[in-house]
Amino acid sequence: MRLMPEEIRPRAAWDEYFMSIAQVVATRSTCPRKYVGSVIVRDRTILSTGYNGSIRGMPHCSDVGHMMEEGHCVATIHAEANAIIQAAKNGVLIDGGSCYVTASPCWNCFKQLANAGITRICFGEFYRDNRIFEIAAKIGIELVHTGLPGVSLPALPPTPTPE
Ligand SMILES: [Zn+2]
Ligand SMILES: [Zn+2]
Repeated sequence: MRLMPEEIRPRAAWDEYFMSIAQVVATRSTCPRKYVGSVIVRDRTILSTGYNGSIRGMPHCSDVGHMMEEGHCVATIHAEANAIIQAAKNGVLIDGGSCYVTASPCWNCFKQLANAGITRICFGEFYRDNRIFEIAAKIGIELVHTGLPGVSLPALPPTPTPE
């Protein structure tokens, strides 16, 4: 019996493929408190990507330290928000798309994804905020825990103690 090419080298399923790309995107993050990457997709085509990073033209947390507020770094724009912003900046339609993100969206990013018309959110690991599960179910957003199939991320440095 002749083996089909996919039996010799199994191809990545679509969710695994896009989440692996989100993991590569995360390696560009500049806030070492959390490396997060995001990819927005529709019809199996990548429309936009984003990672945790500072305001354009501002120094990176990894160079100058964090801007801490109530236990969170507020210097950066989150990966999902940056993916939405990149689409807006380039005039790319993301309505009805899916968002792959390596860590589950925080409450703010979840709200932004919902109003950007994202109908499916795949996350790699749970980060924080359980409210997203309840609200996603209520407004018809499919929320999927896919795990992190792809590349491994750089190790996080020890968490600094807040002042
Ligand atoms: Zn930071
Ligand atoms: Zn966020």
